Amino acid sequence: VGEPFVVGVDVGGTTIKAARVSAAGSILDQRAIPTPAAEGPDAVVHALRSLITSLAPGALAVGVVMPGVVDVAAGVARYATNLGWQDVPLVRLIGDDTGLSVAIDHDARGAGLAERGYGLRLDDFLLVIMGTGVSCAIVREGRPVCGALGLAGEIGHAPVFPGGEPCACGQRGCLELYASAAGIARRYGVLTGRALPAADLGARLATDTAAAQIWGEAVEALALALTTSTLLLDPAAIVLGGGLAGAGDMLRDPLVTALGEHLLWRPVPRVEVSPIADRLGLLGAAQLAWAAAG
Ligand SMILES: [Zn+2]
Repeated sequence: VGEPFVVGVDVGGTTIKAARVSAAGSILDQRAIPTPAAEGPDAVVHALRSLITSLAPGALAVGVVMPGVVDVAAGVARYATNLGWQDVPLVRLIGDDTGLSVAIDHDARGAGLAERGYGLRLDDFLLVIMGTGVSCAIVREGRPVCGALGLAGEIGHAPVFPGGEPCACGQRGCLELYASAAGIARRYGVLTGRALPAADLGARLATDTAAAQIWGEAVEALALALTTSTLLLDPAAIVLGGGLAGAGDMLRDPLVTALGEHLLWRPVPRVEVSPIADRLGLLGAAQLAWAAAG
């Protein structure tokens, strides 16, 4: 007996997070394990199933969000580079383990659902998720946009600096090389020889010229990509999420200034930091589970 709950799971390249989540979005019991990606795709699937099985008793449904290409209708994880997955029938496997309804989706779209349901609750926005990579959820009239191939919002590979640094995707000058947490930490390391987590740069901007340079380039890269996005979609708001959004106004304020320098003839959309920036994945997975539970 107690509050009804679902299980939400956020599968990332470094950590798998899972939690029991109430209908109001309260996280009742959260667990996290390192993603055993180095041990191969089967090890990741096994670890995920064990984690879900431990939280499932008493739950109404299970929702899972993950990076890569997700076939929502078939319930299959088609392709995820960071996890080594190819055609993993997650919905069937987890359903067999738990006897529950299971839903899966891409992590950025799940984050868009969470922001709509538990964050600022807007109907029309771009949610930019700045973590290990950079991705985006496009929410229009309350629904996340999928695109023809399910690839809408992959803004991390928008070229922002032509002829720039080479990206693992094969192109040069991609946004996430400059504006992801991984990219910022890597570029700061190359410039200074010092290792510093990206989120810590924001506090050093006044005293560390290298930090100010790398941060400034990240903001400019983001502003260029979001200028194009704004001209294309005219969103009511741009919402910042993911680990880097923890920098708060140190990120938001220069971004608003840079957008103003590029969007000369039209207003800059409202820019906000998501109030649930650090748990968008888990709450997005929970939203999917509540929908699956009916
Ligand atoms: Zn790229």
